[in-house]
Formats: sequence, C-alpha cells, structure tokens
Amino acid sequence: MIPVTKTFLPPQEEYNSYVKRAWDKVWLTNRGELTIELEDKLKEYLDVPHITITNNGTIPLQIALKLFGKGGEIITTPFSYVATSAAIVWENCTPIFVDINPEYLTIDETKIEAAITSKTTAILATHVFGNPCHVEAIEIIAKKHNLKVIYDAAHCFGVKYNNQSIFNFGDVSTCSFHATKLFHTGEGGAMFCNDDKIQHQLFFSHNFGHNGPLEFYGLGINAKISELQSAMGLALFPYMEHIIAERKKVTDFYNTNLNFNNLKNIKIRENTEWNHSYYPILFDSEATLLNVQEALQKENIIPRRYFYPSLNTITYTKGNKMPLSESIASRIVCLPLYVGLSTIDLQKIVDIINKLTS
Ligand SMILES: *Cc1c(COP(=O)(O)O)cnc(C)c1O
Repeated sequence: MIPVTKTFLPPQEEYNSYVKRAWDKVWLTNRGELTIELEDKLKEYLDVPHITITNNGTIPLQIALKLFGKGGEIITTPFSYVATSAAIVWENCTPIFVDINPEYLTIDETKIEAAITSKTTAILATHVFGNPCHVEAIEIIAKKHNLKVIYDAAHCFGVKYNNQSIFNFGDVSTCSFHATKLFHTGEGGAMFCNDDKIQHQLFFSHNFGHNGPLEFYGLGINAKISELQSAMGLALFPYMEHIIAERKKVTDFYNTNLNFNNLKNIKIRENTEWNHSYYPILFDSEATLLNVQEALQKENIIPRRYFYPSLNTITYTKGNKMPLSESIASRIVCLPLYVGLSTIDLQKIVDIINKLTS
C-alpha cells in the first residue's frame, strides 16, 4: 500500500539509548532531562525565544484560548483540521468563520475586519500545510482592535518566513508533533511565543498552574509530555535535515511531472522557506476528485481528503456559508508524501492523475 504519509522512525537502537536514560534515572515525566534537552535543541534549531513542549498539538490551542479567548468570539478559518474549531468550542468560545484566500488557502485577511464585533477577543488562524497566513496584515488588524492572535502552526515545523521562524509571529503559535507530522514524538506538540509574560502564563498553564509543589500561580491543566515521547523526539532530531530534503525530492517530482492544465497546487506565500509537509492538489470538480481517488485506490494508493469537510459545516460550529472554503474542501486531496516513496510509485501516481485530468 502507498499511504498518504508514513511515519519516519529513527534506528531503534538510537531511540533505546535515550529511553535507557529515563530507565536508569527511573524518571518518566514531569519535565525530566530528556524533555529539557529536547526543548533546548528545538529552541536552537528553530531559533525561537521560547518553547514549551506539550503532550499533543491541540492542548496548546486550548491553553491559548483559555488565556485569551475569554469565552468570546474567535475569528477563525473554516479550512483547517477539526482541532482548530473544536478547541474554540471546547473552551466555550464561539467560532466566527472568515472565508479563505483561494490561492494560499489561508484565512482571507481582507475579510477579517468585517467579522469583528464587540465580543471578539482573538483571531485563531492556521498556516495551512505550512503556508504562512498574511501575518503582517493580521497583526495590523489585531493591534487596531486590541485582539490577540493565535496561530495554529501544527504543520509548520522548520518553516521560515522573512528569514525567521514562522512560530515567532502572533501572540502564541502552536505546533503538533503527532506521528503523522514532519517532526514527531508519537503524540506531542509545542507552544511558542516571544513575550516573557505570555511564556510564563503558557508554562504554568501546562503544568496544573504549579509554582513549586505547594503554591499555584493560577488555573492550569496537564499538558506535559512524557520522557518516553521526548526520547522519540531526541532520536528523530538528527534526521530532520534528511527528512525535509527527501520530502523536497517528492514535491519536486510532483511539480515537474503533474500536468497542471486542469489541476492546481498550492501557492506558497512569497519570502517563505517551506517545509514540504503536504502536497495538496485541487481538481476542477468533486466528481473528478472521486474519479481519481477510485483509480488510485484500485492500485492501493491512498491519498487523503484533507481538509474535508469545511469546518463551518460541522454540526456544532453553526457557521455561516463559506463558499470558497466549501468549494475547495470538496475538490482537494493530499498526495502521498514521505521519505522512501520511490520514483516508480511516484510515476504511477502521476500517470493515473494526468490520465484522468487531461
Ligand atoms: C494535527 C493538527 C492539529 C492537532 O494536533 P494533535 O497533535 O493531533 O493534537 C491541529 N491543527 C492542525 C491544523 C493539525 O493538522
């Protein structure tokens, strides 16, 4: 089978050598030495001022919304993974959708101001497939209306915008280290910010609000990662350049060999150093998509309809109509992309798609 993605695993001995350190110390969680070491390495590699590693990529969204959403209206994108909307509703805030830019697939910044009301507290936008939102425009709007900006940067490991980490933008950015993501710890994630006070709030929130064993700064939750997960991150870390370079070869192959007459791919924002995290293609209709999907499945090639459905159409979000997002969600598919995908398999995928779309 050729799946849409395949988890990259480091050599097992290398993972085991990290796990042994946890074993020898009999120390499995509560910010042990492996977690601290991973945080230090990622902070340097990503070139960010602050990082707090967490046990998944959804809880950082919840923590940021708990701190800044305050039960109000959150301006958000309908084109993202369900976690983005679910976190808003879970934190008793109301998602207010703003349609997307059909080229970049990120929230359409020119439509944000019209959606702001006296109840708006924050903007939660997704850097879709690692493609940055228009962060400058969003910052100007947020400053003008006194709103916080949270970026769901789950796909953004290693992405740079204007020569700096995309995680440096907004009040808080989050990332996912889920096994299907570029860098992973099995389950895991992180939150980033560049303000000391916010970092303090994020940090105590992720550990029950503890300030030492007997004192509390405030309300917190358990978002701590375990040492076993951090061991995976440490073992994987040396392979990140290799992983991104190998994935680039795959996206280059698709770019060169797919016939784009009746097909579109994502437009990466200017001044972006992209991470080759996904390869979405957009068909002219849902019928073509289903046709291609069926032909691929016959060859045991399993792409993924990502993102589908548009989040404004989910029962609990009660969103307004979002024509662009709904149309794109019905026509987009992510193609197989992982380290080790052979040229023979890539050619097979490309041939099927080209045949059915030209
Ligand atoms: C994966 C993902 C999440 C959730 O991350 P988990 O680590 O699975 O909790 C959130 N948002 C987006 C856009 C994602 O792709």
